[in-house]
Amino acid sequence: MLRVQDLHKRYGATEVLKGVDFTVDRGEVKALLGPSGSGKSTILRLMALLEAPDAGEIILDGKRLGVSVSGGRVSHLRERDLARQRTDIGMVFQRFNLFNHLDALHNVMLGLTQVRKVSRSEARDRAHAMLTRVGLAQRAGHFPSELSGGQQQRVAIARALVMDPKVMLFDEPTSALDPELVGEVLAVMEQLAGEGMTMVVVTHEVRFARRVADEVALFDSGQIVEQAAPDEFFDRPQHERTRRFLEHVH
Ligand code: ATP
Ligand code: MG
Repeated sequence: MLRVQDLHKRYGATEVLKGVDFTVDRGEVKALLGPSGSGKSTILRLMALLEAPDAGEIILDGKRLGVSVSGGRVSHLRERDLARQRTDIGMVFQRFNLFNHLDALHNVMLGLTQVRKVSRSEARDRAHAMLTRVGLAQRAGHFPSELSGGQQQRVAIARALVMDPKVMLFDEPTSALDPELVGEVLAVMEQLAGEGMTMVVVTHEVRFARRVADEVALFDSGQIVEQAAPDEFFDRPQHERTRRFLEHVH
């Protein structure tokens, strides 16, 4: 369903992605692990169409994203067309990136009214339903400063979900949270996975990856080193690099 093919990205002299290939099937949860600076956030940003790759393709349901191809010529999409494609891909960041001047309800409504051109009353209903789904119906009128980190992150999840994305990308969604707030966010994510959402999750939460992911991949120096089902990956890693990485996170 979502396929990344030979993706390359460099910033100046630094080659951050050196040809990344992977596939996420419909309803599958993929966990990406890897050391700091290995390119995990970069690959999510490319998949979310927040940046363009230098080379390689991102294909969602058979359609190549971010570009238009005509007569063999590839050109980057204009911002308006990109914005439309982005709504198929929900992204949740480490820092919640909510609008501080909007309450939870209006943070969730914004994409519907601005990008999807849904009427305000329908957007309100759908945003309310989504806040209910992440357990925040009672907090709809609260501003981000009046919410805990875990609640803010659940608003961010609701904001992505309300657009009805085909795939959800999570970039270390719990690593900015106090330990006691991690569980409520992971619970929402686990519920989503159980409902069949297609997800790519960059995380250090090894127990979550083992329990929820269908496949786990280790990313290092801009490449995938190893990917396998959780039991294989954690109990019988094939690569020395994976064994070394796991020694540090267990
Ligand atoms: P972390 O676990 O710390 O979040 P990461 O695996 O997500 O790390 P990235 O954020 O993808 O790593 O960064 C990969 C490399 O690319 C790093 O060396 C980083 O300094 C560099 N990099 C990322 N974004 C930019 C940018 N906009 N400009 C220049 N260099 C960048
Ligand atoms: Mg990162």
